[in-house]
Amino acid sequence: MKTIIYPGTFDPITHGHTNLIERAAVLFDKVIIAIAQSKKKAPLFDFDERVALVKAATAHISGVEVCGFSGLIVELAKEHQAVAVLRGVRSMSDFDYELQMAGMNSAMYSNFETVFLTPANAYSFISSTLVREIAGMHGNVSEFVHPDILKALKTMALKITEECINCDVCEPECPNGAIYQGEEIYVIDPNKCTECVGHYDQPQCQQVCPIDCIPLDPEHMETEDELMEKYQRLTGKVAE
Ligand code: SF4
Ligand code: SF4
Repeated sequence: MKTIIYPGTFDPITHGHTNLIERAAVLFDKVIIAIAQSKKKAPLFDFDERVALVKAATAHISGVEVCGFSGLIVELAKEHQAVAVLRGVRSMSDFDYELQMAGMNSAMYSNFETVFLTPANAYSFISSTLVREIAGMHGNVSEFVHPDILKALKTMALKITEECINCDVCEPECPNGAIYQGEEIYVIDPNKCTECVGHYDQPQCQQVCPIDCIPLDPEHMETEDELMEKYQRLTGKVAE
């Protein structure tokens, strides 16, 4: 029984990751997907969400196990009697780092191999970071991730920054009454802002603000389902 470990943050898992797992499952008897807690990276999805989404995205591949880890890969490998670690390489800059890591791992655990796979051409440009950024700007990432992840991807609410000049242009334009005059500048109530779901293709307040002081707010992230629920609660309608 030959086991390989595939570690990563998987925030979220993409078709690029899944492609590597499918191919590793042909070469090895067992593929253990080791999901890093990665608290320092402040992931978009919490650990339990990432585990559930990885399980959903790899349910069709036999010989796959999913576990969490927070320490050294070599210790996890010893625990599971894994003979190798799988690393995906998309570019020379990936490879430089991975080469060093492979050397360190083999120095710490002799006979432990690093297997490098390049993603299939169709997935060579996909990264979790890009998926998060595109989804955060309401872009379509359906070609890059499993449908469950599409559903769970969080979008960001908006906020008004301190540059606001109190011109009052945005307030009457908000269809949800989410914008109001605060103590010093205008502010957005995150409980009322639906990011203009059901009203406009792009946030209306962003479009009308003369000084572009309404960026996305990573502090207020919601899933598409949560946004829809809020839209229904505020308007009594179901967004299409
Ligand atoms: Fe209002 Fe739309 Fe701006 Fe949200 S994005 S505050 S709903 S105008
Ligand atoms: Fe402030 Fe912009 Fe709204 Fe004017 S349109 S009140 S500058 S956020």
